[in-house]
Amino acid sequence: MEIFEQADSRSTFFAELLLPVPIPKLFTYRVPFNLNDKIKPGLRSIVQFGDRKVLTGIIINIHETPPKEYEAKYILELLDDEPIVNTQQIKLFQWIADYYLCTAGEVMNAALPAGLKLSSESMVQVNPSFDWGTTLFEYSQKEEVLVKHLQQEPLSYSKISTLLGLKNLYSILKSLVSKEAVILYEEVKEKFKPKTEKRIRLSPDYISHEALEKVFETLAAKPKQEAVMLKYLQLAPVLQDAQTNKNGVSKKNLLGGDISESSLATLIKNSIFEEFEVVISRLESEENYALPDITLSEEQRIAQTDILKCFETHATTLLHGITGSGKTEIYIDLIKKAIDSGSQVLYLLPEIALTTQIVQRLKKVFGTTMGVYHSKFSDNERVEVWNGILNGRFKFVVGVRSSVFLPFDNLGLIIVDEEHDISYKQQEPAPRYHARDVALVLGQMHHAKVLLGSATPSVESFYLAQQNKYGFVQLHSRYGDSKLPQIILADMSSERRNKTSKGDFSRLLLKTIGETLAQQEQVIIFQNRRGYSPLVNCEDCGWVPKCVNCSVSLTYHQHRHAMVCHYCGYKELLPSSCPTCSSNRILTVGYGTEKLEEELKLHFQNATIQRMDFDTTRVKSGYENIIEQFESGATDILVGTQMVTKGLDFDRVSLVGVFNADRMMHFPDFRSYERAFQLITQVSGRAGRRDTAGKVIIQTSHTDHPILNFILNHTQEEFYQTEIADRKQHAYPPFARLIEIVVKHSDKKISYNASQELTETLRIAIPHTKILGPGEPVVAKIRNQYLMNILIKIPRDSGHLADLKSKITSSINKVLQQKEVRSARIVVDVDPV
Ligand code: ADP
Ligand code: ZN
Ligand code: ZN
Repeated sequence: MEIFEQADSRSTFFAELLLPVPIPKLFTYRVPFNLNDKIKPGLRSIVQFGDRKVLTGIIINIHETPPKEYEAKYILELLDDEPIVNTQQIKLFQWIADYYLCTAGEVMNAALPAGLKLSSESMVQVNPSFDWGTTLFEYSQKEEVLVKHLQQEPLSYSKISTLLGLKNLYSILKSLVSKEAVILYEEVKEKFKPKTEKRIRLSPDYISHEALEKVFETLAAKPKQEAVMLKYLQLAPVLQDAQTNKNGVSKKNLLGGDISESSLATLIKNSIFEEFEVVISRLESEENYALPDITLSEEQRIAQTDILKCFETHATTLLHGITGSGKTEIYIDLIKKAIDSGSQVLYLLPEIALTTQIVQRLKKVFGTTMGVYHSKFSDNERVEVWNGILNGRFKFVVGVRSSVFLPFDNLGLIIVDEEHDISYKQQEPAPRYHARDVALVLGQMHHAKVLLGSATPSVESFYLAQQNKYGFVQLHSRYGDSKLPQIILADMSSERRNKTSKGDFSRLLLKTIGETLAQQEQVIIFQNRRGYSPLVNCEDCGWVPKCVNCSVSLTYHQHRHAMVCHYCGYKELLPSSCPTCSSNRILTVGYGTEKLEEELKLHFQNATIQRMDFDTTRVKSGYENIIEQFESGATDILVGTQMVTKGLDFDRVSLVGVFNADRMMHFPDFRSYERAFQLITQVSGRAGRRDTAGKVIIQTSHTDHPILNFILNHTQEEFYQTEIADRKQHAYPPFARLIEIVVKHSDKKISYNASQELTETLRIAIPHTKILGPGEPVVAKIRNQYLMNILIKIPRDSGHLADLKSKITSSINKVLQQKEVRSARIVVDVDPV
């Protein structure tokens, strides 16, 4: 940039652009002379890419060296006066691309809210040399109508489609193009539309006493116009402060009551008032919040001091505080301190929808200086948050994983709450990044402190804290008098043997639910399967309905009267007789949340029961409504999937039931113990907050399972030590880094061959690295794609990670050049979860 500022404005400049395409390079464009004084890094600009496509890119740098192999095309337009992306962000995008083996363009695509990206719209115009008089062609009636319209103005595809009442324009446009009557082109549209408001103010000539008096004289006989005038002066006391006229009053407010629109129109016509438009925010307007007074407890205060002490020597600190220990209150205190010192703060949450309670609490403290950033927001709202950080309105943002991409320039503190949560990891599409890990890098770039918090930290973070790589602070007791729940196992095998269970309900659970309800207290039942029954089968021949697209069995959903695939959404009716043996003894087996809800209704007919899972929260505010009703006490029993385990804080829950712990503990994955431990501990944490000590009942057929022992005896530390030893022995994270490669193809053979080929190539390219596979994953076919997995294990202390990764990338490229397998899709997932 400096070079450029001193340069002659007639110099020829070239700009390197980052474009949202999966090609790992920057693209060079020529800067037109008239943009020489305006161009700088971080601005968005529009360029042509390929023959017809128009893309928005970000300018990364500017220089005077023309490209050698081709003639650079001109930049078409600049969209911003000031940068919307800063150099730290660009560095972060590049880091993510290198680390997660994708392109910076893909990262940019994930980073920018859609409202800041441009779309190009396909347009049609008349060929300038077209003339009805000389044409030899015949035109259909529709073609004639269209060309006549186009002679007025160019039209977009969508407008033409409405105009002609045609869904498919292909043939008519093809015909008109071949007759050289029309030209197709792409027009760029800005997606973000600022929200505006119509305002009214006095014309500047009337802002004096004398002028106003004259106006009132002339209006004496026109009471309706006089009323408008009076109302205006009441809303905007311009005589006391002439400045108030500048902002005017919103037309909507002025017109309220018995003020007539036509009188206002007359006053505008007579130039006494003027109408104008201002851009207003979609986000919440200023409100006065009552600041709740919190004083940290003694233990919290010590923890907070310890965190600050850790930050003196460690950039990252792990706060391990049991559920209900008041981590949020400590965060709030730290956030205030950081904001007061003048820096920005980012507070990451795994899923905002599931944490509305926390956001509400933060809002009470930080009001509208806090920005909220998540996927349920509209694009336009997201753009406003982005801009709010650029212009300084927001010093503090609470958001989901994509908020690591926001244009911070001065972060002082990043909090990653529930750092163990796997929704921090993006699965599809690239970049497959882990927001917690990106937050660590982001923190480094800003010299900011990073606080990881959880009641059940990931094994990786716990280990790093023990190794003194992170600072480590613990909170061992709940806030106030609230006690940890009593944990009781319901032994399903012995209940079944003694025939005391009913269906999959233990007598113990049913009895305790009854007692809890009798005391007017609430119950949460957790079952990590949605739908009615996870399995359907024929009692006579054992037939099980499978998805036609995936290698999984279908789940029966009663309210949809269908069997559904949870991988691809495929749906089929429940057959009345078996397609193989014609028997009509078709059974639904096992309990999903739907069946659980139904049976609970039979057992507890006076109780109000609600279900919270993917199916009941799909509708807007579905989640909020269920929480609100449970919070208000309108619901007695809440049944749900892992959604009920997250970040909820209720006063009157004194019983939590874990309906089936066995499936969680026996899932074939090296993390399944960790997950089971986290889920059960988290859901148990919902029991007995505030004044009642709660109970947790865990139904299991493996009462001596080690995981349950750790939970039963509250020996978390031991769980972590055992798990760490196990990971060490089998070389899993944190002792190794994993890179998973998935090869996909609709032809099983191609998928198989490509994965074999790739494994061979990798064995040669990275000979001393452990490569497992190729092998079929547990679910080997999804959406008609056959999958093969390859797992690469890299020792944690291996120094040449970057080198290894580039060899992996080139091995993949090499395989994809082979004719027989080039149609395979190869997906790389670094640090899979
Ligand atoms: P955690 O996030 O560690 O599970 P929370 O921050 O949700 O715990 O706190 C649990 C409950 O205790 C919340 O209702 C919170 O308002 C209350 N609480 C915690 N600390 C304090 C405090 N210092 N003063 C008042 N209430 C507190
Ligand atoms: Zn059968
Ligand atoms: Zn399917």
